[in-house]
Amino acid sequence: MRVVFSERAFIELLAETYEKISTETGGVFLGYYENETWYIVECLDPGPKSIFEVAYFEYDEKYVQHLINKVARIYKRNLSLLGLWHRHPGSFDVFSTTDDGTNSKYAQLAPQGAISALVNIDPKFRLTMYHVSNPLRYRKIQYEVNDAMFPRDILCLHNIDDYISFINNNDKEIFKRVNVKPSITFNEIISRVCKTIGEFSGEKYEGEILQAVKDEDYYDIISDVTFDDLEFLANDVRLNLNMQKEYNFICLLDKDDNEAKIYFSYIRSLKQCVFIYQNNCYKYRKGLIKDILSEPPKKAKGFLNNIRKFFIGEDESNE
Ligand SMILES: [Zn+2]
Repeated sequence: MRVVFSERAFIELLAETYEKISTETGGVFLGYYENETWYIVECLDPGPKSIFEVAYFEYDEKYVQHLINKVARIYKRNLSLLGLWHRHPGSFDVFSTTDDGTNSKYAQLAPQGAISALVNIDPKFRLTMYHVSNPLRYRKIQYEVNDAMFPRDILCLHNIDDYISFINNNDKEIFKRVNVKPSITFNEIISRVCKTIGEFSGEKYEGEILQAVKDEDYYDIISDVTFDDLEFLANDVRLNLNMQKEYNFICLLDKDDNEAKIYFSYIRSLKQCVFIYQNNCYKYRKGLIKDILSEPPKKAKGFLNNIRKFFIGEDESNE
């Protein structure tokens, strides 16, 4: 595994470091992962509202999302958010506990993990590049700066004539967004969860499953048991979900996809929560979705391919 910076990206990193020479700073890497190589096309600055302290690093998420979309629009190929870099004081070139949190958040969103770099000026400029895998583990990797090593299309900008024709044809389809949030859909998540845990043959509990809504504590039980996952799906995965009543069942659905819907129920005699997805029944417990998504993906080839698209999404909001 190796990292290749475009000259532009590396100069962006140096310029940011130079500008904030007396304070901490950092940024995000935008590019492409292919054949065990991280191609860094752009290093974007972390934004005016970012906070950099020795033990704390937070970028201005709104600003970075905005900038990423602007920059990604000039490139022909989709770019992904690969990871981040920040400066550390003195010779401190390992990650703090807070950094661990940020790094693992990035790493768990793609099968190949993420990259994270530290810059030290002790007193000369020095950059240490790490690969971050999930579960959290760091490995130092080599980096080079060389445009010639990029597969040609990765650095390719949109063609002027293409763009003029997009404008003239009022074609909005090309406005691809690179999301700080992953573009994995709720449907993909649920399919993965179902595949992992396997179906529960609950025929003999069908009565209880259908009647569960009649128990007065049904809503309490379901809200309590689903809370952690809802929080995870909304805050970490950033899905746009809705929790609503359908046939009096609590139903969790993706606002953007009517097909992606699960119904929760409870089997009192087993003290077991279940959910129904596409007419099949699955056992559910607190934090189940989070736990499964946090596991490193195994051999599921199709799914791996799907989550290669992580962070790359279509523009739904039309700025
Ligand atoms: Zn740090």
